[in-house]
Amino acid sequence: MTGKMHSFRIVAPLKVENQLIDIPQIEPHEVLVRVLATGVCTTDVELYDGSMSYYRDGLSKMPLTAGHEWSGTIAQIGSAVKGFEIGDLVVGDISIGCGKCKNCKKGKYHLCSSRTELGVIRYDGSMAEYLKTEGKNVYKVPAGVSADIAALCEPLATVLYAVRRTGIEPGDNVVVFGDGPIGLLNAQLANCCGAGKVAVVARKELHRNLIEQKWGMHLINSTQGDVVNAVCDLFGDYADVVFEDTGNPEVINLAVRATAPGGRLCALSLTGKQTVPFQLEYVTSRDITVYGVLASPNSFAPALNMMASGKLDLEPIISHRFSFEQTPEALEFARTSHGQGRIKVMIEQKS
Ligand SMILES: [Zn+2]
Ligand SMILES: [Zn+2]
Repeated sequence: MTGKMHSFRIVAPLKVENQLIDIPQIEPHEVLVRVLATGVCTTDVELYDGSMSYYRDGLSKMPLTAGHEWSGTIAQIGSAVKGFEIGDLVVGDISIGCGKCKNCKKGKYHLCSSRTELGVIRYDGSMAEYLKTEGKNVYKVPAGVSADIAALCEPLATVLYAVRRTGIEPGDNVVVFGDGPIGLLNAQLANCCGAGKVAVVARKELHRNLIEQKWGMHLINSTQGDVVNAVCDLFGDYADVVFEDTGNPEVINLAVRATAPGGRLCALSLTGKQTVPFQLEYVTSRDITVYGVLASPNSFAPALNMMASGKLDLEPIISHRFSFEQTPEALEFARTSHGQGRIKVMIEQKS
């Protein structure tokens, strides 16, 4: 397809320009997608304010079109791509592996050393009218799932990968540190996957009603007393499975101390390369298994199945909506609205 499109390009820290650029030309193995919705992630905010470590590593470069949590309709299909029709509502995985290296061959394409991350490394993201990506990376959205809910697939797939890795068993008591979109999706998914009790640990009470009244889980306010004692009071013991979804270096040792002997601790968030003192003593003496979780490999299809099942309450995760023209405002709002009840900021486009 030829022609021009609007694309919101990050050209310098805190500077976003609405540029009229060429619609991307696709290769035979790629598809062109008309973007309908983009969720704003912390990664997008860090790409926007310039703090993203990938800039220092030389992986990401300005000017850049961010946006990796997206949905849209197929606008053009490369000759080597099968299984899609023009107009299909689709989502796509952020990580695109080379397909040839040892990790790619094992299905661990998110660990491919020459991988692309759409909207972060090399491929431009979804804060534009169109994006292109590889056909192997795209998944059809089941009937009944709207475009904006479908744009939550990337964060949902990330927590689904984490939940699968920890192997939550029926009756396991689970603690999730963090009440952002990842924490709230993580807690809901753990609850769906057979957890006994689920507690979310947060510094604020912003989502107490949602967590307790609507979802039947528990909120532990970390500013009111000792978190580990609160976990033990609630569960009668430490937690079988703990997820660290805050990226706050101070939280990791609380998370370790909250994990039961023989339990599993899963770290989903990044701490900005800060060195974190780690109480290995607890890990060893309690025989704790620690998982590091990156991205969402092989998890889009099951995440879409979970969306279609209706078992997750996803509408409340989208707390603020912006139009495509308001993309710079959406990024600025996501950057400055911490602690104001914001969960996921969604940018919506007209089809
Ligand atoms: Zn993200
Ligand atoms: Zn590879």
